[in-house]
Amino acid sequence: MNILDGKKCADSLIAEIGKKVSGYVQGGLRKPHMTIILVGEHAPSESYVKSKITTSGLSGFESELIRLPESIREEELLARIREINEDHTTDGLIVQLPLPKHINPQNIINAIDPAKDIDGFHPTNFGKMTLGQKAFRPATAYGICKLLQYYSIPTKAKHVVVIGRSNIVGKPISIMLANDFDIGNATVTLTHIETPRELLLEMTRVADIVIVAVGIPGFVTPDMVKEGAVLIDVGINRLESGKLVGDVDFDAVAPKCSWITPVPGGVGRMTVAALMINTLNAYQNNFNLV
Ligand code: NAP
Repeated sequence: MNILDGKKCADSLIAEIGKKVSGYVQGGLRKPHMTIILVGEHAPSESYVKSKITTSGLSGFESELIRLPESIREEELLARIREINEDHTTDGLIVQLPLPKHINPQNIINAIDPAKDIDGFHPTNFGKMTLGQKAFRPATAYGICKLLQYYSIPTKAKHVVVIGRSNIVGKPISIMLANDFDIGNATVTLTHIETPRELLLEMTRVADIVIVAVGIPGFVTPDMVKEGAVLIDVGINRLESGKLVGDVDFDAVAPKCSWITPVPGGVGRMTVAALMINTLNAYQNNFNLV
């Protein structure tokens, strides 16, 4: 069993980004700039935002955190987004999810300028990604692809089973790995809550790569995977003890795997690194650097 070390891979990608940025700055350009909007107080979001801001500093970017009250009206939030869309000093904009219940997240995502949509959630980017065109790719899915690439794990002609069909993880990673991309060309089975248990087991037991994003600790057990499978655990679950775990029963499943991601230190790190790649690309687009 080998560990897919998200920290090591992310650190190497961030060092590469930092070098590029320092070249641009030495050439007289301003630094890339990322803006994050955080609405209300939500402990996991606080920690994700902190990690994005720290990593943006390590990448050589400037970042700005805009905190807005839980009670903000949807119209007011949309107005702030429109202001940032018009601001040429911001390259990338993240509206941290989840939002308070009275705000429709899709309205918010739709309002972000696709050219600043470094999360890759806007329908324009999602549509282009689906069609195999150049676009900002949803960060967690893109991070998983980068991790597979870093460890030279082939996806071409492999059978991938994805568990969970959320718009931010399950759906985009299924599409990306099925597409004719560098990391792609796989045969993908996308499963979800309506997938009969027997069918899920039938699929996961023959899968070369299993990607799980359901948010249920210990969901993937050793009887579900074949010897030598690659396991990508996207889940981030906080147990009552305070321990952070994924969706895989790691200790029991890991011995059967050829490769497996740990939690923490796996996909989470890669999500943030992929956001930095998207931000750098947004900046390069702004300055016609590519
Ligand atoms: P989500 O929006 O809650 O979606 C969960 C998905 O799992 C849904 O598609 C749901 O099916 C499916 N599901 C639930 N129970 C199932 C079951 N028994 N069998 C098969 N499918 C089942 O979750 P998400 O946003 O994708 O997040 C999933 C997990 O990943 C969470 O722990 C989250 O914290 C974590 N996460 C981590 C990162 C990272 O960077 N590492 C990024 C994003 C999310 P239905 O669609 O039918 O409801």
